[in-house]
Amino acid sequence: MAPRVIILGSGTPTPHTARWGTSFLVGIGDEWMMFDCGFAATYKLAKAGFMATQVDNLFFTHHHSDHDADYPSFLLTRFDMSIGKEKELNVYGPTLTEQLTERLLGEGVGAFWHDIVARTNHPLSLGAYEQRGGKLPRKPPKINARDIGPGTVATGKNWEITAAPVDHVQPYLDSLAYRIDSDEGSIVFSGDTRPCASLTNLAHGADLLVMECIRLEREHEGNAFGDSETGTYGAGQTAKDAGVKRLALVHQVPAMDEPVMHAQALKEVTSIYDGPVVWGDELLEVPWE
Ligand SMILES: [Zn+2]
Repeated sequence: MAPRVIILGSGTPTPHTARWGTSFLVGIGDEWMMFDCGFAATYKLAKAGFMATQVDNLFFTHHHSDHDADYPSFLLTRFDMSIGKEKELNVYGPTLTEQLTERLLGEGVGAFWHDIVARTNHPLSLGAYEQRGGKLPRKPPKINARDIGPGTVATGKNWEITAAPVDHVQPYLDSLAYRIDSDEGSIVFSGDTRPCASLTNLAHGADLLVMECIRLEREHEGNAFGDSETGTYGAGQTAKDAGVKRLALVHQVPAMDEPVMHAQALKEVTSIYDGPVVWGDELLEVPWE
């Protein structure tokens, strides 16, 4: 069975009814993982019919808020919905991943530690936990957060994940793109980046490239946008150069959903890349065939 790729968030920091923040859910066999956890990702996970407790691995591309602002919601929901029998959560990301996790839920120091203390002690929460099927004592969540760099970063039953550096807003934040290789297929998430050789190499021959396509290319000319993000021609060129089998466009600014802009964007991408192109709407499951 082909991997399942569900777009939870496909927007930018600008809130819009159609899209806001970035997050993707991937299922390989019975294992589910998330890439980024931007604004409202946990709510959109529920809208897609999934529980936070189903996700055992979370990967951050970088720590801009449109990619990580829902992390506390995700952690607290996963903890609250747990009955103590789930796997421990593994969290991977560039520099700041460990620090952010500690500052959110670190014992005695995390901004939300009070919630853990209350829910693992007060009879109200202990009763709710037992009602869900949990057995006392109710324990704090254990989160395995790791700052990672390029290379093989995680493996599962029949999948392996490789990270590569991409060019976004260094030196302020490190950014990574990820590639999943599995028996059923390969998927690459670009994260936010300008077109770069490191991404093209990582994506070489992939079955699916989920690629930032934030604006029409003309809006990147003569300004800083083009130095840190990918527009229409850049997305098409990366897909073509990497020889990927299909391309999903994500991380569009709200104006890109206007019909004229949308049509122009697809026209520009497909003027370079001639494989199948999917417009990444939120809650869409990317078709594999
Ligand atoms: Zn972003």
